[in-house]
Amino acid sequence: MKYTSFNYTVHVVSPTHIGIGEKLKDIEYLISSEKLYVIDIVNLLNTLPQASVLSSIKEKPLHFYETLKENCNPHGNYYKYIITCKYNPQEILPHIKSIYYEPYITGSSIKGAIRTSLLKELLLLHDQRTLSTEKLKKIFKKLSNQPGERKKLISQASSDIGGDIERSIFNGKYGYNAMRALQISDTNSINYNSLNISEIRVLSLNMRNSVDWKKFKLYIETLKPSDDFHKTDKNENIHGTIKIDNYLLEDSPAQRERLGYTEEKNIIKNFIQLCNKYSLERINREINFFIDCDIREIADWYKKLKNLNLKENEFLIQIGWGTGYECKTVAPSFTQELENIRRYFGIGKKKVRIHISCDGEVLPSFNKKDSYFCTKCRIDRITREETIVIPFPKTRRIVFVDDKPAYPPGWVIISVERINREM
Ligand SMILES: [Zn+2]
Repeated sequence: MKYTSFNYTVHVVSPTHIGIGEKLKDIEYLISSEKLYVIDIVNLLNTLPQASVLSSIKEKPLHFYETLKENCNPHGNYYKYIITCKYNPQEILPHIKSIYYEPYITGSSIKGAIRTSLLKELLLLHDQRTLSTEKLKKIFKKLSNQPGERKKLISQASSDIGGDIERSIFNGKYGYNAMRALQISDTNSINYNSLNISEIRVLSLNMRNSVDWKKFKLYIETLKPSDDFHKTDKNENIHGTIKIDNYLLEDSPAQRERLGYTEEKNIIKNFIQLCNKYSLERINREINFFIDCDIREIADWYKKLKNLNLKENEFLIQIGWGTGYECKTVAPSFTQELENIRRYFGIGKKKVRIHISCDGEVLPSFNKKDSYFCTKCRIDRITREETIVIPFPKTRRIVFVDDKPAYPPGWVIISVERINREM
């Protein structure tokens, strides 16, 4: 059989956001009676009496959008979608949606989270020490040859190390990649009333390990979790398909030669168990972290998550925005190695400041003191509060409900059913 195929269903257990790298500005929506109305400008223009619109635009030509917004009321039928919103945000990060404004979950966001879990397992199998020692030897050699290039090489090495390790594990010759054998479709799209607006605050621990909530609040569209924490809430079924390409994972000399891997096959086939193993480790670490910070709400939430009785065909993963750097990189597995490398080369001081809402690197703004320019979303005058410095593992993004910490974002349960037919 060329493919082993599965249907998967997603149960959202904490507010989940898959971003599109754009923002909704407050001129693009209306908030009334705890609802957010996202304005469809073209529909609105078609609805409004032309004369009145033209005259008000003539009065204030520079405030075109504001003028249009003043003409909106909650009863109009010129909205793209309407969702619950208990806040009055200046801007909102929208969730990915179909052309009918129906949200869905991308296969790539699920695959990304699975990939991290599998990498972690592969790292345990490979002798990670030899990998980094090899890398180090190469750097030493280069450094001794080109003393003038030291700084450049060091910064290159520090940014490359994670990527190198990944490549050496997952990639074979000619750009083949074992992860290609795991194919995950996007989910179907579901009604937009499955979304609401979540308030996010950023927690960081300072050098003295005391808790510090950033004043800055962020508002994002999130898929609502089921109320009872369990998976009984099935009003909206979010599902897709997973295919494993058995041909790519065949144990033939030709495939070994091309893909350059051996253990990966079983690891990919065991993704359910391995994701759970990795998630459980993370959950235990998070419980300790939040107990240390004395944020009982989140520690208790994680304890409930840990005690969910998952079936054999179910796994827990954290996907999408706000899941932290740990979910996207394998760096924590190398803490000690990286730490040694950092110390040796004195690269511990190299820090990157990023924009909280988009994860883009920011640079000091030319226009305004104590503010930043984001190189990713190209927004200027970002305040210090809207940024964090990484690497800084002791930073968490938390969903607040009624002014209290309530959830870590992005936890979902995925249940998988084998399809027993040839595809
Ligand atoms: Zn940005």
